[in-house]
Amino acid sequence: MTSPNTLPIPRLRPETATHEHGWRVESRHPTSEGVVLYVRCADCGSRRVDLQAHPHTPPVGVSAELGGAGH
Ligand SMILES: [Zn+2]
Repeated sequence: MTSPNTLPIPRLRPETATHEHGWRVESRHPTSEGVVLYVRCADCGSRRVDLQAHPHTPPVGVSAELGGAGH
């Protein structure tokens, strides 16, 4: 009799995937399509590029989150 509970199931849940990033703007660059924001999470060091098309709309992430803490 086999039990599925005995199978080793790899759990790939890094801490960076569970916490809510606290993005902080490091630099901003006005472009013809809006303001490109380079943001970094102060907690885990992940980086992301956001694009804020209009001053009154929230920025939208245009790049994947880039882990900066090292793997
Ligand atoms: Zn983070």
